[in-house]
Amino acid sequence: MAQFDRKWWRHNSEIAKELKSKIFENVSAENRKKLSEILDKYHKIKKEELIVISQPKSNGLVLYGVIYKGLNEDNHPLVMDASFNIKPVDIIRLEKEIIQPRGGGDTTLNEKKILLIGCGSVGSILAPELIKFGIGNITIVDNDFISTDNIYRHQLGLNFLSKNKAIAMSKFLEENYPYTTIKPIDNSIENSVTNSIIDLQDYDLIVSATGSPNTNFYLNNYLFKNTINTPIIYCWNEPYGIGGHSLLVQNRSSCYNCLYDENLVNKGSFCLPGQHFSKKIAGCSSSFVPFSSLDSHKTAVLTLDLVKNFLNNNIHNNPYLSWKGDNQDFINAGFMTSKRYDLSNNELIKSRYEYIDNTCSICSIK
Ligand SMILES: [Zn+2]
Repeated sequence: MAQFDRKWWRHNSEIAKELKSKIFENVSAENRKKLSEILDKYHKIKKEELIVISQPKSNGLVLYGVIYKGLNEDNHPLVMDASFNIKPVDIIRLEKEIIQPRGGGDTTLNEKKILLIGCGSVGSILAPELIKFGIGNITIVDNDFISTDNIYRHQLGLNFLSKNKAIAMSKFLEENYPYTTIKPIDNSIENSVTNSIIDLQDYDLIVSATGSPNTNFYLNNYLFKNTINTPIIYCWNEPYGIGGHSLLVQNRSSCYNCLYDENLVNKGSFCLPGQHFSKKIAGCSSSFVPFSSLDSHKTAVLTLDLVKNFLNNNIHNNPYLSWKGDNQDFINAGFMTSKRYDLSNNELIKSRYEYIDNTCSICSIK
């Protein structure tokens, strides 16, 4: 086919004529007939006309595009021989089958439904990554809004200030990742369940990323007491970058409550019990637990590995996994780490089932 500069319009009857003849020479007799029938019905005068040519190749269809400009006749440019302004255009294919595998997603995960509870610092990293896995259906529950405290820890930043976190994330995901069903719920998980806005049985996996023990206890109790077997992952950050954790509960042999002793001390924590970590920003009434966006990324990576291994059926128990960070800022702020923090990374992995409590008041009652 004739070569021409891709950047500039060409006013050239020879190129238009050659393109027309190449198309008609290279289509099958059946398609040539169909094309002629379509062109015969063409009467609408447009200022521009785009032609997309699909060429079968050994590795699939290849698409080319050409745009004609300045048409002033009641005839399609593939019918008449005339001089047109003509320019090639790049065709970008956005079909699900094309963009998902190329982006690293797994199309077999497309039927999976995930409930993400909490779209704060960790949740806002998880949501787009779950979609990049190829997950086709995500419900996001959060009744909080993006505040100035969140700007440097939340993926959405200043542009979404004062917006509800679930709705803002949903808008971002819909604009950037087509072919995914996203349902935002601006409500607490407790209200959503009590008022039947969602049914926890509807999902293949629940991810609780609120970092709130109260919410996690509520979910744990609700799932066990109502004999709901939907697998759930709880994930949260420790303060000052000393670590983060993810617990998968996919069967009834253990639960979130197993992590806590009779004094409600989290045995899996890296912090010595009895310390309080909320910090106030000068001149601002709100308080927050100090951790950085980097900590949330590390917790999100730990959690996403767990999600992927679970969805690929590579895990059959309920592991409690942790990442361990530097404790210098934590110590400098006057806090003390727990004995569990002293374990090496290998020891942390080896002890991933040691949290299980055979006398647990929730899961040991069979
Ligand atoms: Zn338990």
